This record gives sequence, C-alpha cells and structure tokens, in this order.
Amino acid sequence: MYVSDSLKINEKGHLTICGCDTVELAEQFGTPLYVMDENQIRSNCRRYQSSFDKHYKGRGMTVYASKAFNCKEICRIINEEGLGLDVASGGELYTAVQAGFPANRIHFHGNNKTEQEIRLALEYEIGHFIADNLTELQTIDRLAKEAGKNAHVTLRIKPGIDAHTHSFIQTGQIDSKFGFALETGEAMKAIKAALEYQNIDLKGLHCHIGSQIFESSPFVLAAEVMLQLIADVKRETGVEIEELNLGGGFGIHYTSEDAPLPYDQYMELVSAAVFQKCEELELKVPFIFIEPGRSIVGETGITLYEIGAIKQIPNIRTYVSVNGGMADNPRYILYQSEYTALIANKANQPADTQVTIAGKCCESGDLIQENTMIQNPQIGDVLAVLSTGAYNYSMASNYNRNPRPAVVMVKDGTPRVVVRRESYEDLIRNDL
Ligand SMILES: *Cc1c(COP(=O)(O)O)cnc(C)c1O
Repeated sequence: MYVSDSLKINEKGHLTICGCDTVELAEQFGTPLYVMDENQIRSNCRRYQSSFDKHYKGRGMTVYASKAFNCKEICRIINEEGLGLDVASGGELYTAVQAGFPANRIHFHGNNKTEQEIRLALEYEIGHFIADNLTELQTIDRLAKEAGKNAHVTLRIKPGIDAHTHSFIQTGQIDSKFGFALETGEAMKAIKAALEYQNIDLKGLHCHIGSQIFESSPFVLAAEVMLQLIADVKRETGVEIEELNLGGGFGIHYTSEDAPLPYDQYMELVSAAVFQKCEELELKVPFIFIEPGRSIVGETGITLYEIGAIKQIPNIRTYVSVNGGMADNPRYILYQSEYTALIANKANQPADTQVTIAGKCCESGDLIQENTMIQNPQIGDVLAVLSTGAYNYSMASNYNRNPRPAVVMVKDGTPRVVVRRESYEDLIRNDL
C-alpha cells in the first residue's frame, strides 16, 4: 500500500521514513510537518543523470524544476548532484543564488518575466533564458545591451502536443499562455527574430507538454516534432540549433493506482527516437535538457499532522480534522488531487475506516482527501499524507494566518530542519 521506497513500518507499528520513526519526528519537531528523504532525492537525481549516460552518450543534463520545492537546502543538494536548476521567478532565482547555485546552470522560465527579474538574471549572468514571447525577446535584448552583455536564449515552443491528462492530444494546443505556436508559423518568426538581435545568442528550443504524464509516447512525439523544427530552421536560415529542452512532467505515485514508468525508460525511448530522427533529417545530435520537478521530490516527502476533532455525521460521513490543510497542501482544493493517507502510529493496523480528512481553515472545500480509507482514527493520532514533496511547501500560504510548517530532511536516518517553522512574529513582520 505504501507508495515510496523509503517508507517502512517499525517494530512499534509506526511509519518510518528513511529509517526515522515519524511519530518521534512529530513529537520532536511538532506538526504539521513536512518531512523529506534526502537519500531518495539524491538517488532520483542520479537515476535521471545516469539515464543520459546510458542511453544518450552523456550528451544531456537534468534540470530540476525548482517550483516543485524550492529552498536553499534543496538548491545545495541539486548543485552537489550536478544537475541544472529551473527557476520561474526572481524569488526562486534569488534563493538559488543565495544558496551558491552556479548561475551558468540556471534556466529562467516564465511567460511574463518583469524587467526587474530580467535585470537580476543578467546581473547574475545565468546560463539560460527561456524566452516566451516577442515582447520578452525584445526586452531581454534591450536590457542585455544596457548591461553590456549577451543573453543565452532558448525559445519556448508550443509543439501542438498536450499531455496534461492521462492521454494526450496532438493538436489544438494554440490556446496556452506559454510559448510560441508551431502550426501558425509564430515559432519560425520568433526564431528568425531571435537570430537578428545583437545581444541575444539563440542556443536552443524548448517545449513542455504537461505534468504527471505516465506514457512515453508524448515525449517521443514532442522530440520528433522539435527536431523537425530544428531541421526547418536549418533549411530556412542556415543555422543549426544545438540545444533541445524537452521539459518535465514525468508522473509519480500518489496512490497505488498510479503506474509511472521507470525514469530510465523515458530516456531510452526518447534517445532512440532522437538518434533516428537526426539521421533521417541529417542533423547533429543536439544536447538535451529535461526538467523533472515532481518526480525528483514528490514521492520523497510526506506531511505529518495531528488529528483533532472527529465529527461523525450519521449516514453521511465522518470528518477527521487535522491541524493543517489547504494552507500547507492546496492541491486538493485546487484540483481534487488524490493522496494516500494513513495513521502513522497505527501503520500496521488495517485501513478499515472510511473518512474525509478536513483541514482547519475557514473553507468547506478545505479537505485533504474525501472518502478515503485509514486506520480507526482517534484524537491525538499522527496522520501521515504521502507523496507531498512536490507542490505542497512551494504552494503553501498563510491563509487564516496559519504559520507555514517546518521542513525536515532525513539523511541516513538523521533528521535536520532545513526550513524553520514560521512563528507568529514572522506573520506580522511586514505589517505596519
Ligand atoms: C512545471 C514545469 C516543469 C516540471 O514539471 P513536473 O511535472 O514537476 O516534472 C518543467 N518545465 C517547465 C517549463 C514547467 O513549467
């Protein structure tokens, strides 16, 4: 029933993560608490990197999409593992640089980067601007000129493949706020414009086709479509673009229903398709970037809560309320995301009670999961929600002025705080 390698049950019947008893973690650090398995994060990084070595002659780099979970410590870990880092705002960029992340391995995304953000990125001399639209291209060129620098730019293309759901569709993706459309000729126009700007060096093309994708075929198809574009550009301009960024979106387990492919398999299939297509189109084999976020950190994290009020509504349902909710995990209220929950101090008991797990915020929709099976709940139990390592802390808010929980990382069985719990003083810090 458990969805991650690092989770086990000890002799007390308690859930453990990376060898640490979660009930003891809850006591030691308080709840709600995010706990992440650092060994698992590192091994995920290595699995992606080694798949490039194995299948693509090492001609690629994994770039961690930090919007999934960003703080100084994860930037340090990602740096130590030799990956690149995606940022999508000045704040994520600032965090990375403050953590000592090398600027040349930073990729800056976003469909509406502000001038202030672009100036900051130029000042740091980041390695890759992923430009989204013509206005931005013009702004990057102008600000680079002002700074006396050249910006390395990759253009975000809408390849006409949408894989946001369990299946994917090949056309009709013009309606997205991100990137240049391929089928209207907008992409080709933008590439030609980028080649003209004096302070822009066009390095690559980028696409990102969705998230929580379980199939390999949309990635293969996206790679082929993008290589065709590189070939078209070469024919029309004589310039051969050397970098191809295929985005992220690899799926993970949230429940036992989810069946992601081993990460290795994506690169194996994509690599084979790229080699073949390059031969067919007489192109040099491009340097490839991929940008996994969720699949690096998602399954490595859990959230621990304490159960408070239990409300049994006869013939309707039982609400089990925890001391967190939408403020620390907004994914259920946003997209009815599925999660696996269990009572950490009764992990060896049968999950025989159907409950709806509610948060403590003033919203009826503030739920973690509806009609889910957990062990018989009692006030004071520790509830664990699994696979919360991605898009939980990074999406957390202070709604109802709830302080954000601490983040604890466990490495080789030893826990340490990497983000302190917010205090009430933190909440009023900027109030005048
Ligand atoms: C969100 C995002 C990613 C990461 O997606 P995951 O589903 O977390 O792997 C990668 N690239 C871009 C451009 C994104 O917007």
